[in-house]
Formats: sequence, C-alpha cells, structure tokens
Amino acid sequence: MLTLIAALFEFVVVVAFALAAVLLNTIDARGFLASAAVGFAVMYGGGFSWFVIVAVFFTLGVAFTLYKYGYKRRLGTAQGKGGARNWPHILANGGLASVAAMYCLVSPGTLPAAVFLGAVSTSAADTVATELGLLSDRQPRLITDLSKEVPPGTSGGVTRLGFVGSAFASLVIGVMALALGVLPDAYLVLPVCLVGGIFGAVFDSLVGATIQRKGYCVVCMKPTEALRHCGEKTKTTGGKWYIENNVVNVLSTVAGAAAACATLLALAPLF
Ligand SMILES: [Zn+2]
Repeated sequence: MLTLIAALFEFVVVVAFALAAVLLNTIDARGFLASAAVGFAVMYGGGFSWFVIVAVFFTLGVAFTLYKYGYKRRLGTAQGKGGARNWPHILANGGLASVAAMYCLVSPGTLPAAVFLGAVSTSAADTVATELGLLSDRQPRLITDLSKEVPPGTSGGVTRLGFVGSAFASLVIGVMALALGVLPDAYLVLPVCLVGGIFGAVFDSLVGATIQRKGYCVVCMKPTEALRHCGEKTKTTGGKWYIENNVVNVLSTVAGAAAACATLLALAPLF
C-alpha cells in the first residue's frame, strides 16, 4: 500500500513538472508524454535524488536555450518553436538515463548510477556547449581540423566558450549528485561526471564532424542537420543518412556513460 502511495506521489510530481514545462513552452504536447515517461522511469527506478538531477539538467538546458534567444534567432541558429524540444529529442537524451534507472530495480549499485550520471552529464554538457558556443564572438572550428573555421551551428564545430560550457554543465550535475549522495563514495562523483560529460560532448562533436548526416533545405536552400525544414524533407548531402541528430545524441550518451563507468572503475580501487 505504501509503495502504491509513493508511486502515485511520484507520478503526480513528474506530471506537475512536465506540465510546468509545457506551460513554459519548452516542450510540445508529445514532448510532455515523453518527458513524463522519462521522469517517471528515473524517479521510480533511481529515486527522488535521480529525478532532481534530471530536473536540474532540464532547467539548465532551458535556461541556456532561452539565454539571448533573440540574438541566436537573428543568427538563424536558434532552436525552433521558441526553443521547445520535441519527443524524439527528449527520448534520445533521456533514454539511457531511464534504462539505467529501471536497471536499478533489478540490480542497484554504483555502475548503473555511473551510467546515469555519465548520460545526464553528456546531455547537459552538449546542450550548454551548443547554446553557449552560438554566442562565441569567435568563429567555430572543426573538431577534426582545428585550422578550419565553420559557420555557427555546423555539426562538429567547436568553440572555446562551448568547451568551458560543457565543463560547467558537467560540474553542476556533479555538484548536485554530490549533494544528493547519488554515489556512496563522494570523492568519485565529480570525476565521474566531469569525465563522462566532457568525453560525451567531445564524442558528439567528433560524430558531428564525421559520419553525422548533413543536408540542405530544398525550400530556403540553407544547410541544416534537421530531417525536415520549411515543412519539406531535407536533402542529404553528406555523412550517413541514418546518423541524424537524435541518433548522435543516443550514441553520445552511451559514450559519456562508458567514460563515466571507466572513471569509476579506474578510481574506485585507489580509495
Ligand atoms: Zn528551409
């Protein structure tokens, strides 16, 4: 009975949070369902502290997306629909974190917690790096060839400001996880989040510079990584057609989680 009441309470908190996100215009209607599913899986499997960490990531993402939104919009690099994220984006970023949380129901431990922290740190690092990088007064450079300048918004383009942003975002997740005691060994939390988040974000840029699908809009002729633009399907011009942005996000969270686990396993015997 108590677990049923607890589950109901968790459900209400998640729905209230997702509703607030809709009202703030940060997610659309289907994004609401995806957020509620991710939020509930994380809270039910990982507990309230895990949910708080996802909520912090979400708040961080919204804050940096809306920061100087008008300026990014004029540049033509802003996220569409007032920065609202759609459901594939939410599942791509929150999928692995949800899986790690659900795995805890079967076998709780530090490893699924490291997977969770690595995945969330990567999503936070990537989001903040992208949004801050757009504001850099220096032209982004291609991560695979730093002598080459690319237009803002180009996949695989990196800036110093973006890198600082990815470290900052990973640190915020790390400090929250430390305060909430997500890992029993407190001294491991910051390195796990920092290495996981930064590695995941760098991996994201590497995939973006190499195999990510590139295309252009057949209506406005602008280059874009989106599958649809101006209401029409975009044309593929480079990369693998199936490595679109959400696939890159999934791969990056897996890479960030792997780096976080490696850090945990490497450092744990030292203490
Ligand atoms: Zn277009």
